[in-house]
Amino acid sequence: THIPVITIDGPSGAGKGTISRLLAEKLGWHLLDSGAIYRVLALAALHHDFTPEDEESLVALAAHLDVKFEAEEERSLTHIILEGEDVTMTIRTEQVGNMASKVAALPRVREALLRRQRGFKELPGLVADGRDMGTVVFTDADAKIFLTASAEERARRRFEQLKGKGFDANIDQLVNEIKERDDRDTNRSVAPLKPAEDALYLDSTNTPIEDVLEHVLTFAHSKL
Ligand code: C5P
Repeated sequence: THIPVITIDGPSGAGKGTISRLLAEKLGWHLLDSGAIYRVLALAALHHDFTPEDEESLVALAAHLDVKFEAEEERSLTHIILEGEDVTMTIRTEQVGNMASKVAALPRVREALLRRQRGFKELPGLVADGRDMGTVVFTDADAKIFLTASAEERARRRFEQLKGKGFDANIDQLVNEIKERDDRDTNRSVAPLKPAEDALYLDSTNTPIEDVLEHVLTFAHSKL
């Protein structure tokens, strides 16, 4: 049987996470937050005091990573468990995000995580969110979307998010961090961030999330 897959790739802060979650909810499908896997790996690496240069150790860590995704009843929040510890919140810091993009640049680390990601493809279908879902992990996906927004707008959204959580943040610093991470993700030799040839390209800079979701739904339905 054919298991349908929709991929949503793009830089951080473009709204991929929200769109993917809403889409998976609407369709009643599984959700793969592949960035969370890289973040969990980064957190585990930081716990072990590994640096991005410790390639052997990172590859071994990736191959044996003890991570579980536990959906809550109403599916609104998925708890992420690393070696029995709930790390849902701790993997969301800029420090972990930065480390994630460094370990994600290692080809053998990406290779070690491939099978685990493909394992999420189960009936009735999968929405996969990341950087290389359409270009590497699920090349035969039914519908591919590339969702982006300007770095300034993404920084502004991140700023609002942090403020909402009671954190202090500096918008200029956020813009710089976002651009730095984009550069690393776009210029790496394996699985660089770029739209798949057959992807629908959407820019959410001036588009409210509800409209983006509508557009994505229409496109997905036309492909399924
Ligand atoms: O999407 P998120 O910000 O959680 O991802 C964290 C980092 O993990 C990204 O900056 C990127 O370097 C890496 N990543 C990746 N491939 C994916 C998902 C995330 O390289 N499919």
